Amino acid sequence: MTSDSGDPLRPARRRTRVVRVGGIEIGGDHPIRIQSMTNTDTMDTRATVRQIIALAEAGCEIVRVTAPSIREAENLREIRRRLQESEIDIPLVADIHFTPNAAMIAAEIVEKVRINPGNYADKKKFEVREYDDVQYAAEVERVAERFRPLVLRCKARGVAMRIGTNHGSLSDRIMNRFGDTALGMVESALEFLDVCEAEGYRDVIFSMKASNTQVAIAAYRLLAERLEERAPGVPSYPFHVGVTEAGGAEDGRIKSAIGIGSLLEDGLGDTIRVSLTEDPVREVPVARAIAERAGRLHEVDSKETEDEGARKGPPRRSDRPRGIASDRVDERFAPRRRTTDRLRWGGLEVGDGAPVRVELEVGDVLSRPAESAAGLAVELSGLKDVACESLLVSLGDVGDPGRWGEFAHELASLGVELPISLRVGPGAADLPDAIPAAGGLSVGRIVTTIDATTRASEILRLAELAGKSRAGMEWELACAGHEMPLLVERVLANRSGETPPAMSVPATASLHAVRALVVALSEAGAARTPIVLRQRVAAAPSAGGAVGDGTTIPEAALIDASVRLGSLLCDGIGDAVSMVSTIGAAPAVDLAYRILQGARQRTTRTEYISCPSCGRTLFDLEETTARIQTKTRHLDGVKIAVMGCIVNGPGEMADADFGYVGSGPGQVTLYVGREVVARGVPEAEATDRLVELIRDHGRWIEPEGREIDSDA
Ligand code: SF4
Repeated sequence: MTSDSGDPLRPARRRTRVVRVGGIEIGGDHPIRIQSMTNTDTMDTRATVRQIIALAEAGCEIVRVTAPSIREAENLREIRRRLQESEIDIPLVADIHFTPNAAMIAAEIVEKVRINPGNYADKKKFEVREYDDVQYAAEVERVAERFRPLVLRCKARGVAMRIGTNHGSLSDRIMNRFGDTALGMVESALEFLDVCEAEGYRDVIFSMKASNTQVAIAAYRLLAERLEERAPGVPSYPFHVGVTEAGGAEDGRIKSAIGIGSLLEDGLGDTIRVSLTEDPVREVPVARAIAERAGRLHEVDSKETEDEGARKGPPRRSDRPRGIASDRVDERFAPRRRTTDRLRWGGLEVGDGAPVRVELEVGDVLSRPAESAAGLAVELSGLKDVACESLLVSLGDVGDPGRWGEFAHELASLGVELPISLRVGPGAADLPDAIPAAGGLSVGRIVTTIDATTRASEILRLAELAGKSRAGMEWELACAGHEMPLLVERVLANRSGETPPAMSVPATASLHAVRALVVALSEAGAARTPIVLRQRVAAAPSAGGAVGDGTTIPEAALIDASVRLGSLLCDGIGDAVSMVSTIGAAPAVDLAYRILQGARQRTTRTEYISCPSCGRTLFDLEETTARIQTKTRHLDGVKIAVMGCIVNGPGEMADADFGYVGSGPGQVTLYVGREVVARGVPEAEATDRLVELIRDHGRWIEPEGREIDSDA
C-alpha cells in the first residue's frame, strides 16, 4: 500500500515508520487509527472513565485526556486503574500545554504524551520583539534544555510523543520570525525534533493543526517535504491529522472532511482525530467514514499503479506526470486560486476572479417543461440563505431543442430566473446548426462529454454549434489520467471561435483526474481555462446530517463531496461547482455553498471557529456555541471564535473577527480580532456583550430584511 509520496497525480500513502502507542501501532502499513479526546474535567475520574469507555465502545482506538497541571497528570494513574478494573485496554495520551512538570509525571503513566511546541517551554504573550540570530539561538537552546528531560523519560519508558503544533498557538519567537504561517508551524515542530533525534528518540508523531483548512493542508504538505529532505528515502515519522476548532454539526463535519480527507487523499496521515463541538463519541463515526474512504482510495490506486506499471514498466521519478508537486510548488504552501479566463453563461460571469459559482444539474426536464419547472421552483424556494446561480439541463431525446426556452419561461413565470445551459451528447446526429434563442435569452453553454474515442469532426461540430448558438462550451473529459493530455490537445485544436471553453471531468472521476486536467491544460498552453467541478450527491438509506432545508444528506455523501470538492478548492482549482443530486435541489446547493466556505473560497454565512472543548473548558461549549449561533447566524461573512480556554484562543482568533473565550469559572474574555476588549465578563451577560461588540464595530445587521451577500 505504501510507496513514494508527494505526487498528487499518483497518490500513494506516505512511507512512515511504525510508532507503538501501547497496544496500537501507528504508521507503516497499519490502518489509519482513530482517536478522540475527553471533554470532562480530568479530576472527575468517574466522568472521564465513563467517557473513555464510551469512546472505546464507539470504535475509538486511542484517547487523549488533558493534563493542565500536576494534579490532573497524577490523576491519570487513577483513571488508568479504573479502566483496568473495567477491563478496558486503550492507550491514553496526556495533552500538555504550558506545564513541563505535568508532562514529566504523565510520561510515567500514559502511552503517549502530546506537547505543543508553541507553549511547552516557549513564551506566548503576543510580544512583538525582534530576535537577532544570537538571541534566537539562545532561546532555542533554552527551550531544548527544558524539553530534553521529557524526551529522555519517554525514551526510557517506551512512551510515544506527539509534537503537535497548532496554528493558533505558535510561540512569540516563531511568530516574530516566521509569522503565523505554515512555515512557522513546521519550523516550530522541527526544533523539537532536533532535540529528540539528538537523544536517539524516534517514537515521534507530528501534527500541524489549524482551523483554516488551507493552512492545515499546506503545513502538513510542507512538513512531509521537510522531513523527506532531512532523511531522503527513509520511512519518516507518522502524521496525526486533524482540523482544529472545526465547529459542530454539518459545518464541523464538512471542514474536517475537507482538511483531513484532502490530506489522506494524498497519502498523508496515519492517525486522525475529528474535532467537533459535540459529544466526542459523535466524532468517531465521522472519523471512521473519512478513514475508510481513504482506505478504499489507496486500495484502488495501488491496484491502478500496479496495472499501469505492468503496461509501461516501473515508473521513474522523471517519468511521472508533472503536477502540482512540481509546477505549482508554491501553491501547495501558499494556496491561491488559479487565474482563469472570464466566461459568460447567460448573464452569469464565471472565472477570472468571479466567485466560484454554484450550479444544479437537473437532468431531463424538457419532456415536461411546465411540470418540471413548477417542481424545481418549489424545491429552490427551500433555500433560505443562498441561491442557485445556474441550471444545467439535459437535452436528452427531446427532438426540439427550442423546448429549453419554454422551460426557462415557465421558471421565470414562477420567479426563478437563472441562466440555463444544455447538456448534449456528442453523437446526437439530429442537432440543428444552432440552438434557438428564446425571447432574447441564449443558452448559457453547451456541455458535452467526450472520451478518447470521440472523433475530431464531432468535437468541431459541437464547437461550431456553441458558436452559432452564442453559447459557451464546456468539455467534460471522460478518460484516464494518461489520456488527458491528448484529449485536451484534440479539443484545443478543434475549438471554434474566440470564446475560451471551460473543461471538467465527470462526477464519477476522482479528484486526481481534475489535477491531471490542470496539468494537461498547463502543458498545452491553456492554463487559464476555467474548470467546472462536478459532484454527485446521492441518497442512501443511512442516517445523515440535516443540511439546508432540513433534508437529510447521508453522512457518506456529505464526506465524499467535502473531500472531493474541498481538496481541489483548497488548492485554488474550480471556477464553478455543478451539483447532480438525487436528494433534491436545495440540500445539494446548500451543501455546495458550505463546502465553498469550508474551503475558504466563498463566504455566504457566519463562520464559527469553535473548539471541541476538553477538560480545560470552563463552560458548556456546545450549549454556549448554540446560544451564540442563535443570535448571530444571520451575520453573513462574520467570523466568530468560541473557545473553551486561552490555549489556542488568541492565535486562532487571528482568523476571527470576534472572540468569546473562557477565562475562569463563569467568566469570559471578549476579543475583537486578537485584541482583548473585555475581561472577566460574567457568562450570563457575555453573549449580549458580544452582540454589542459586533454592533459597535459596524458588523451587525438586523435579522429581518437582510440582503444576501454571497460574494466573497
Ligand atoms: S481551546 Fe478548547 S479544546 Fe483547546 S485546550 Fe482550550 S478548552 Fe481544550
